[in-house]
Amino acid sequence: MLLEVDNITLLYGRIQALHGITVHVNEGEIVALIGANGAGKTTTMRAVSGVRAIASGRIRFNGVDITRMRADLRVIQGICQSPEGRGVFPGMTVRENLEMGAYTRKDTGNIAKDMDHVLDLFPRLRERFKQAGGTLSGGEQQMLAVGRALMSRPKLLLLDEPSMGLAPMLIQQIFEIITEINQRDGTTILLVEQNAQQALSRAHRAYVLETGSIVKEGTGQELLHDPAVKDAYLGVA
Ligand code: ATP
Repeated sequence: MLLEVDNITLLYGRIQALHGITVHVNEGEIVALIGANGAGKTTTMRAVSGVRAIASGRIRFNGVDITRMRADLRVIQGICQSPEGRGVFPGMTVRENLEMGAYTRKDTGNIAKDMDHVLDLFPRLRERFKQAGGTLSGGEQQMLAVGRALMSRPKLLLLDEPSMGLAPMLIQQIFEIITEINQRDGTTILLVEQNAQQALSRAHRAYVLETGSIVKEGTGQELLHDPAVKDAYLGVA
């Protein structure tokens, strides 16, 4: 098991956002978290990346207890998060943003090749290579945020709403890219998505969150064909 999230709770002041979440991710898997707005998906990601401290429970990564480890040290352990929405460095060019994604890497010889690969995946970023991140359109910034996360070649890639703000054709493409990163590099991926249809089609396993708790788990295919999941999250009866 690469990631073990064991019965975690998390508070925002007096609001309890997570009520005992237990999730695991095996090496080589794509695991999706799906659920309605406010269910706690992003909060679970924040707990894993370490940007929010949990109130109780434990988190283990790669055999190490990281429950109290600082977020920056978790990055060095191999956990990289692409934040929800934009999160690009506005004053830096596309190129600099992508380079920042690779800053913890030691295999510097492969960085140029990977950048080329990211630019092949997102030709729009190649066109805007020297443009400041802050002047890109919303969708372009989203592509850059995902591209930057891919540049770090992490052991565990946390993707928060990678399809947000993308046009339908690019949504399809971004999920193909996610599958490719998983299959080609063997990168383990934990994914938060509103687009449950795509996420479940691509994920090996998935968890359904409701108001801070896990209400269902299964393989992507099982959940894709689960009547209750279809009703609530896939927009088909
Ligand atoms: P969405 O799909 O809308 O992004 P989500 O499942 O990712 O939703 P979270 O962002 O994890 O949901 O939010 C879980 C709950 O915690 C929500 O009720 C939200 O209002 C609350 N919450 C999130 N961030 C904060 C914060 N910084 N301060 C107070 N409450 C917060």
